[in-house]
Amino acid sequence: MSCTQAPDDAVILFNGKDVSNWTARNGGPATWKAVDGILQCVPGTGDIVTKEVFTDFFLHLEFRSPDMPDATGQGKGNSGVYLKCRYEVQVLDSYGWEKPGMGDCGAIYDQHAPLVNACKPAMEWQTYDVVFRSARFNDAGELVEHVRVTVFHNGRVIQNNVELPGVTGGALDDDESVPGPLLLQDHGNLVSYRNIWAVPLPLEGSKIYGPE
Ligand code: MG
Repeated sequence: MSCTQAPDDAVILFNGKDVSNWTARNGGPATWKAVDGILQCVPGTGDIVTKEVFTDFFLHLEFRSPDMPDATGQGKGNSGVYLKCRYEVQVLDSYGWEKPGMGDCGAIYDQHAPLVNACKPAMEWQTYDVVFRSARFNDAGELVEHVRVTVFHNGRVIQNNVELPGVTGGALDDDESVPGPLLLQDHGNLVSYRNIWAVPLPLEGSKIYGPE
């Protein structure tokens, strides 16, 4: 499953023309570039963060790994998609690796390895489709349900409703009780993105049975 067309209620996070919907980590101007409809990391300039914040949502984006034939491991096309700026879905060129681990493409970094390796080769566009359910808190402010995430990578299920025990390394903050933006990681590699949008989701459905 991969949704390539943004529905009417989607929030368009990259318009293909500029980075006006984004800032740097510190709130200053975003340092990445819009080039020919593509959002390009400018390696070494830092992460970028959406101005829009989310609670529960569905996210679609496309990414492209640079061709780095001599690079290995975490140095091969590293970036990352931080859901609510706190939970990294790893972006890496892990193409062809038989058994991806907890730091490879599609991993919830250091928490959950992808179920299968769904990577395409470097320089091919790939899709992430993510269903995100925020942590739930009771009236006393105590966490009662952890975050849950489902991820499709190039249309294949790689994370099946996994529970996240907390934020991942490099999170912008660790307050799981508040909405957060999307963050794209600069890990020093020329990774590109396009077609980034999210649909905010209601926290629950109604209690009615059938139309009234
Ligand atoms: Mg990363």
